Amino acid sequence: MRTQRQVVDYSLQKRAVLRELLAGRVGTYDVCDASPYLKNAARFHGEPTDRRCPICRSENLTLVHYIYGDELKQSAGQARTLTELPVLAMTLREFQVFVVEVCLGCDWNHLVEQYLLGRDGLAGDNDGAGEQDVAVEGAGRRRREAQR
Ligand SMILES: [Zn+2]
Repeated sequence: MRTQRQVVDYSLQKRAVLRELLAGRVGTYDVCDASPYLKNAARFHGEPTDRRCPICRSENLTLVHYIYGDELKQSAGQARTLTELPVLAMTLREFQVFVVEVCLGCDWNHLVEQYLLGRDGLAGDNDGAGEQDVAVEGAGRRRREAQR
């Protein structure tokens, strides 16, 4: 996605949890604790993957995208489908996305990554913009907002 930024990858933490599990220092009961809310979010808003669950190895993982941010108001903390995110990214200035992988078979769940989305990221991508463009951009945005 074009406006994706400040990506934080949690795969190291995930591997650490799996190592602990293999070593018997934590039980599957401790890591396979997906709440009913998370599982519902996975069923209704989740993004299926072709990656097998690292715990039960019988189900594929589902990715759930949670959104957070002041501009979202009552929608903050809700799960969204992957196809809804670009639409939100064009309408909002900035919001946080947390991606959680869930196994609907054994309830394994772990945070995969987090990142920011929103229109604020578009200006930074525009390498060709001269100083003049930057200066008028704010005025253009105000004009567009006034037209709504
Ligand atoms: Zn599983």
